[in-house]
Amino acid sequence: MVAITLENLAHSYHPDPQSEGDFALKEVNHTWEDGRAYALLGPSGCGKTTLLNIMSGLLQPTRGRILFGDTDATALSTAQRNIAQVFQFPVVYDTMSVGQNLAFPLRNRGLDPQYIAGRVERIAQMIGLDGHLQQKARGLTADLKQKISLGRGLVREDVNAILFDEPLTVIDPHMKWELRTQLKSLHREFGLTMVYVTHDQTEALTFAEKVVVMHDGMIVQIGTPQELFETPAHVFVGYFIGSPGMNFVPVTVEGAKAHTHGHIAELAHDYGKPSGEVVLGVRPEFLRLTKGDGLPVRIERVQDAGRQKVIRATLFDTEINIVADAGVVIEADMTNVTFDPAKASIFCDDWRIEGRATSSIKANIKANITGTGAGQTS
Ligand code: ATP
Repeated sequence: MVAITLENLAHSYHPDPQSEGDFALKEVNHTWEDGRAYALLGPSGCGKTTLLNIMSGLLQPTRGRILFGDTDATALSTAQRNIAQVFQFPVVYDTMSVGQNLAFPLRNRGLDPQYIAGRVERIAQMIGLDGHLQQKARGLTADLKQKISLGRGLVREDVNAILFDEPLTVIDPHMKWELRTQLKSLHREFGLTMVYVTHDQTEALTFAEKVVVMHDGMIVQIGTPQELFETPAHVFVGYFIGSPGMNFVPVTVEGAKAHTHGHIAELAHDYGKPSGEVVLGVRPEFLRLTKGDGLPVRIERVQDAGRQKVIRATLFDTEINIVADAGVVIEADMTNVTFDPAKASIFCDDWRIEGRATSSIKANIKANITGTGAGQTS
C-alpha cells in the first residue's frame, strides 16, 4: 500500500479545451495518505466520478500526473494500479453463486483455496451475505447484488486503495447506516486507503476521517467534519455542510468590526480592510435571538424540527436561519440577533480569510498562559 498523489491533475471532456470552463476537473493537487478513510463530497456534476475514474485508470487525465508512492502511474492500467472500485450500480456475475462472485478476484490471482474460503466467509459475514453464499446471484434483490459488489471490492487485502462511487444508492435506507458502519469497521481493521464518493453530507461525515469537498471541478477544502463545520474554507462548504447551511451577510470590514446598514458587529479577529466581495458567515446554530442586543431581525416563520426549532428571519435584506433548542420560547419582542464573534468567519471573494488576533484576545491568551485570567474572550 502506498500514498497516492495527484499532481497538477486536470481533465476536460472537450477534445480541444480552450478555457477553464471546458474542464470538468480543474487543477487538483492532493495526496491521499496511505490507510486513511476519505469521503469525496460534492453535488451532482462537480467532478467526483471524473476524479475517481482518473485514480482507478478508467480515464486518462488531460493534464498532470498520478503517483503511487514515487512511481508515475498515469499510464498504468487499472489492473496494474491494483485498485478496487465499487460502482453505484451492482456489477455481478449472474450465473455464479454469491460465494463464487466474492471469491472471483482472489481466484483470479491464484490464491490458496483454503485462504479464499476463509476470506470469503469473513467478508460475507461482515456485510450480511453469510446466509446467501450458496445462492445464485441471478434473481437476488438490487440490495443484495450491491452487497456482492461491495464484498468483491473488499475481499482483497493487497489493494492500494478501494474506491467507492456512491455505493449505497440502491441500498434500502435502513440498511445504509448499517453498511456504512461496517465499512468503517472494515477500514479500522484492515487499514486500507478508502475513498468514498457521495453527495450526501451525512454519509460523508459519518464515514470519513477526512472529507474532500468538491465544487465546480475544484477541491475547495479537505478537512475533518469539525473543520468543515467550524472553519469552512469556501462559502460553498459553509452552504453545503450543515442543515440549514451557514448564513452569509454582505458586510464591509475594517479591523475587527463588520459594518452593515449602519450597524456594527464585533469580530474576534482583525481583518485589516479586505477589498472584494466581503461576507460575514455565521452558522444558524451560533445565532441567538435577543430582545434588543445585536443586529435587528424580522422573524418570518418558526419551524419545529424535533429537538430544535429553525427560525427563518430577515436581517436587513438577507434571509437567514437561526437554530434554537426546541424548549426556547420565541417571543414577539425578540427583535435582534447576536453571535459569539469567535464562531463567525469572514469570506472575501468566496474564500475564508484569516484575521490576526486582536489585542484583547492576545491579552486573554497571555492571561491563560500565565494562569492569571478567567480566559474569556471578548
Ligand atoms: P454525479 O454525482 O452526478 O455522478 P459527479 O460529481 O460525479 O456527478 P462527473 O460525473 O465527474 O460529476 O461529471 C463532471 C462534469 O463532467 C459534468 O458536467 C458532466 O456532465 C461532465 N461529464 C462527465 N462524464 C462525461 C463524458 N463522458 N463526456 C462529457 N462530459 C462528461
